[in-house]
Amino acid sequence: MAGKQSSDHQTIIDVGGSKIGGDELMIIAGPCAVENKVQLLSTAKSVTKYGAHILRGGAFKPRSSPYSFQGLEEEGLHLLQLARLETGLPVVTEVMDTRQVELVGEYVDILQVGSRNMSNYPLLKEVGKAKKPVLLKRGMNATIDEFMWAAEYILSRGNDRVILCERGIRTFETAYRNTLDLNAIPMLKSLTHLPVIVDPSHGTGHRWMVGPMAKAAIAAGADGLQMEVHYKPEEALCDGNQSLYPEDFEKLMQELKILAPAIGRSLSFRKAVLH
Ligand code: PEP
Ligand code: MN
Repeated sequence: MAGKQSSDHQTIIDVGGSKIGGDELMIIAGPCAVENKVQLLSTAKSVTKYGAHILRGGAFKPRSSPYSFQGLEEEGLHLLQLARLETGLPVVTEVMDTRQVELVGEYVDILQVGSRNMSNYPLLKEVGKAKKPVLLKRGMNATIDEFMWAAEYILSRGNDRVILCERGIRTFETAYRNTLDLNAIPMLKSLTHLPVIVDPSHGTGHRWMVGPMAKAAIAAGADGLQMEVHYKPEEALCDGNQSLYPEDFEKLMQELKILAPAIGRSLSFRKAVLH
């Protein structure tokens, strides 16, 4: 079902009026984690002002250390709902456990399955039954074939709204957090009708590398981007080093708008309706 042979058209997914998978590029931006009201609302308002289509923010965080900030959990979902009301932006957040799918689905517009859970088959089956689109991130050790099979799990349970996200893979290289696999973009686009986006934040781990790799991903054919933006990255509880300042995000959005038509795409900024 994920393969191109099963569908004669490209899948286009509508999220709150913004479409992903067509000519238009879709930009998802926001903090790594929801930390508090001021942090989320300030960041959300900035990304809205600069044209983002969807707000991201983790309420349940998969951290390497059990002593690191684990997310605000349900309180984080409430804050995301508030940000959604104040900015009008649809929201995406990660779901880490089968037991959270129903709850998270009540608050957000897209369910994210993170890299660490790409091969959590019970979770894939559960989001496959959900009535919300799923943003499926490539496992950091997963092959393209395994990534496609993970998407198949979701599709085969009845959910046909799956967005694939390349977010970097583990290689011998340690100069950056992950090796963003740009090859995956044309490869996936040739294999599947599903939309393919790229996360240059986790893909690099360095703020200054996000812009160049975001542009490279769009040039390589990605349908959109997911990027971390924080109103004060130096104070972030999670992934501050790879989070853009709002001004960096604004500049990058302007550059992407110029780049898009050169490769037959377009980027229209979502109209900000801030309350
Ligand atoms: C995230 O997007 O919040 C995240 C944890 O990313 P990944 O699953 O790709 O590591
Ligand atoms: Mn992060």
